[in-house]
Amino acid sequence: MTKKVAVIGSGLGGLTSALLLSKKGYKVTVFEMGSFPGGKANSLHINKFRFDTGPSLITMPFILEEILQTAGYKLKNYLKLQKLDMLCKYFYPDKSVLNAYSDVEKFSNEIENKTSDTPSTLKKHLNYCKKIYDLTTDIFLLNSPTNLKNLLSAKSIKSLLNLKSIDVFRTVDEANKSFFIDPKTIQLFNRYATYSGSNPYHAPATLNTIQHVEYSLGGYICEGGVYKIVEVLFKLCKEMGVKFHFNSVVKKINLNGNKVNGISYINKNEDDLTENYDIIISNADVNSTYKNMLSDSASRASKRYESLEPSSSAIVFYWGIKGDHPDLEIHNIIFSGNYEKEFEEIFDLKKCPEDPTIYIYISSKFNKSDAPEGFENWFVLINTPYISGQDWKEEIKKTRERVINKINSIREIDLNKLIVEEEVLTPEKIESQTGSRLGSIYGISSNSRTAAFLRQQNRSKKYKGLYFCGGSSHPGGGIPLVMLSGKLAVDQILKYEK
Ligand SMILES: Cc1cc2nc3c(=O)[nH]c(=O)nc-3n(C[C@H](O)[C@H](O)[C@H](O)COP(=O)(O)OP(=O)(O)OC[C@H]3O[C@@H](n4cnc5c(N)ncnc54)[C@H](O)[C@@H]3O)c2cc1C
Repeated sequence: MTKKVAVIGSGLGGLTSALLLSKKGYKVTVFEMGSFPGGKANSLHINKFRFDTGPSLITMPFILEEILQTAGYKLKNYLKLQKLDMLCKYFYPDKSVLNAYSDVEKFSNEIENKTSDTPSTLKKHLNYCKKIYDLTTDIFLLNSPTNLKNLLSAKSIKSLLNLKSIDVFRTVDEANKSFFIDPKTIQLFNRYATYSGSNPYHAPATLNTIQHVEYSLGGYICEGGVYKIVEVLFKLCKEMGVKFHFNSVVKKINLNGNKVNGISYINKNEDDLTENYDIIISNADVNSTYKNMLSDSASRASKRYESLEPSSSAIVFYWGIKGDHPDLEIHNIIFSGNYEKEFEEIFDLKKCPEDPTIYIYISSKFNKSDAPEGFENWFVLINTPYISGQDWKEEIKKTRERVINKINSIREIDLNKLIVEEEVLTPEKIESQTGSRLGSIYGISSNSRTAAFLRQQNRSKKYKGLYFCGGSSHPGGGIPLVMLSGKLAVDQILKYEK
């Protein structure tokens, strides 16, 4: 008999698992509390401007390609991804600028001409990052690090015997300082810890694998915006017969003993409904799955998850900006003067940084229709603490002022006169709109050596028939990883739910 599956949430992880399971003949229904698919990866329209609301940089596109291929589709027929020549333009407080090219020779020239570091150090560093990637991908990304069979595979044993080579004992900052001498280069490479919402002064240097992912495997942009990925997955899911219920909040996962047997949800007409399902995949935050949907605050898994530190959150200003700004690229960073202090404020003092590092993403430089002629769409992001009793109204007011002053001083403009449209994403909105625990962007932080092992695995050990995917479960947040989590959940279902 065809098994019925309910997927809770239509984030990138949920869409991936729905697509792959329907391909395998399961009857899949997705329940989404919002009115559109995508979760954090959404699209915002303000008059003639369009913004990607969350993810802006695409990495590891081969994961997306492989997932579509498994479902019987060819990526190139649906999405046009372009590799970026310029990964990011970095502005420093002394007004110097460093261009991070994807071409290693060009990037080496920048490092040689604009810092006290050398091309050979850069190459040594990137080789070291590649080594970490080669040793860790199988055990930490493509499989589960807590799966015994995986742990006992020859490759995993090699990785675990090589703990020093995968650099778990140093922090990201310590490792980067062992290669580079120029504070600008160190700050640039320390920034990669933020790709998992973590603190480079605490997170293990294993995270330096991210630099290999970006510099050697490439950073990409998508024609039509990141949201095109969501649109394609949604369309293919529907083609495969997946049913979607939007504006439907799942309130409860129903159990028969310790085996799941359905869900209760409230639809847009406020009807209280219950439906039976054989398998449930939660793409919602792990914490709310345990606490709210299972009323299980007492189990080991629930308590363990709650004890883990959430990743950072963010404030994003979506600004329609007058004029063309040719000195800016698609991806830009304006660095703070004291990076260590910035992370201390975010993670220890839990306040928005006084001198924030500012990320500006301008998709209209590539996708011309994202802004009217003579204007640009600026997505301006500042890393912030997760929600912890802050007065967000006040924090946002102060942050907006700091950001505008800083951009004005670095670029010698008067931004207040250029902003023609504005919307703001706040940690509170991230929490209320996507259900993310305390507004965290990437699930749990990787600030400890054990985080990779403690993250919720894709199959629940306690509840038979319950699976997890998305940023708060293994292997973590970010587009490629949440899609992998959807695939890993499906792999487990195919293994355990025959
Ligand atoms: C500002 C920002 C910038 C980012 N930048 C990048 C980037 O540049 N590159 C990158 O790779 N990643 C980036 N990310 C991270 C990336 O967006 C996320 O990791 C990814 O999109 C999360 O996917 P997910 O599968 O975990 O689902 P989510 O997007 O978290 O979606 C979960 C879905 O579940 C739904 N849901 C929750 N509870 C219920 C319930 N009870 N009933 C029904 N539905 C429910 C929610 O409404 C939501 O739609 C960024 C994120 C943000 C917010």
